[in-house]
Amino acid sequence: MKTKILRNLASAIFTCYATVAFSAPPHWSHDEQPTWWAIEDTSQVVPLRYPYAECGVGKHQSPIDLAAATINNAKTLNKLQASYDIDTPIFFNSGHGVQVNTSLSYTGALKIGEESYPLIQFHFHEPSEHVVGNKRFPAELHFVHINEDGRIIVLATAIDVGDENAIFQTILDNTPHQEGVQNANSGIQINPTLLLPALDQENLDFYTFAGSLTTPPCSEGVQWYLLPKVITISAAQLEQLKGFYTNNARLPQALNGRAVLSTQ
Ligand SMILES: [Zn+2]
Repeated sequence: MKTKILRNLASAIFTCYATVAFSAPPHWSHDEQPTWWAIEDTSQVVPLRYPYAECGVGKHQSPIDLAAATINNAKTLNKLQASYDIDTPIFFNSGHGVQVNTSLSYTGALKIGEESYPLIQFHFHEPSEHVVGNKRFPAELHFVHINEDGRIIVLATAIDVGDENAIFQTILDNTPHQEGVQNANSGIQINPTLLLPALDQENLDFYTFAGSLTTPPCSEGVQWYLLPKVITISAAQLEQLKGFYTNNARLPQALNGRAVLSTQ
């Protein structure tokens, strides 16, 4: 039950097409990102009238430019382990990106030290949101995890153009082209592990920092783990991704003194 509530919360946070009994959050688009904070919900009174205010007033917003950050690799960090397994997921066109929602019975999780964070969904941005070494990559993949306490952990990996990616093709081929539509009955099985870069998945190297959701409501308290290696998709696959959404990426946000911790 708890997991169900969290999954409902997750879909409400990550899409404005979620079925919400009272009133739906106001529509937004990536084109208007400089003024997300000012989008009004005219059915509400101040301050609820500005549901995306945190996008403007937050001090720990995501994404960030890692080249601008001080990176501290001297601290001992908890071990990061991707423990994903096979699922029969829901392929979802969220209205803002290509997304895969894990099934209700899915047991795959990200382990950080002794804590386990169930994988709820993963999705793609084009181009990348985080900037690494002054480079914006062609795309970026976000694995979103939420634990029973409601804590959100996002594992991110940059996507470069190179070899074709078979599992990515399966996702593209099964995601509906209509906004807000899901494909829940494909019966297709996928293993998200196959989307991770060539790293030791029992003990991943990473950069970690405090941040936020990169889409409205830009809620803070999200802990980010960015992998130092990329995955690849082919040029044709990148074009196919752009056929769904293009420029669905937020620009880097001010660090405001945040440090980045790293295992390397
Ligand atoms: Zn994302």
